[in-house]
Amino acid sequence: MRTMYLVFSFLFGASVGSFLNVVAWRVPRGESIVRPASRCTSCGTPIRWFDNVPVLSWFLLRGRCRSCGAAFSFRYALVELVTGLLFLAVVMRFGQSWLSLKYAVFVSLLVCTVLTDIDHWIVLDSVSLGGTAVGLGFALLPGAGKFLPHLITSVSAFLLFLIIRTVAGMLLKRRPGYTLPPEGHESEAEEFQGGMGWGDIKLAAMTGAFLGPALTGVALFLSFLAGGLAGTAFILAGRNRRVPVPFGPFLAIGSIVTVFAGRGLWEAYLRLGASF
Ligand SMILES: [Zn+2]
Repeated sequence: MRTMYLVFSFLFGASVGSFLNVVAWRVPRGESIVRPASRCTSCGTPIRWFDNVPVLSWFLLRGRCRSCGAAFSFRYALVELVTGLLFLAVVMRFGQSWLSLKYAVFVSLLVCTVLTDIDHWIVLDSVSLGGTAVGLGFALLPGAGKFLPHLITSVSAFLLFLIIRTVAGMLLKRRPGYTLPPEGHESEAEEFQGGMGWGDIKLAAMTGAFLGPALTGVALFLSFLAGGLAGTAFILAGRNRRVPVPFGPFLAIGSIVTVFAGRGLWEAYLRLGASF
């Protein structure tokens, strides 16, 4: 029975991942997510249901369109696989509870954030602001947290990131043109002069709404740590330090690690404080 439940969690997660692929492709392009049904982006042939099975179909078709042979990126299958595994991990960790539902929603929003931020340098408002509302809604449920602490955390995280943006913007203003817009975004150079985008600020509010006081602290710490380490690695690997790196993926990584290990890390931190 338990095995069935776990298998179902994985398959459901993989299907959600398939939907997130569609959202991340269509919404930034202003297309509807419902209509038309999934189709090959090269030849426009609708993808039949038996060719649209998450993860499996990509391997059966060897990553190609059945009609025109155009290659489908492995990323689609990878997103389905990762989302399926995340749902499985959430259910194994939190069992049949509101927490499982809450964290399944949270990781889905984060996966979508990673995709749109890497592709387009945006976090969809429906994800960040919608997610903030949903996260606060979960805090109203019994056992899922308390509303007021989550609301205060959400607002605080928003303000913290706003301050970072304001200060970074002031520092960068002294060196006009220092930050180079990423390829394909030359016309929006102004957007990248603040160091931190509005999408990141709203995303921080969402993280606070879902995770509440202690865990948000852990998540933001891990996000800045991951971003700092990756940024250093990119520069050592020869990347131009004047070209920004999207922060959404690091916030997502920090938040996902926190969902599973945050409580333990927070308690370890408190023990460390008590031992001095
Ligand atoms: Zn095709």
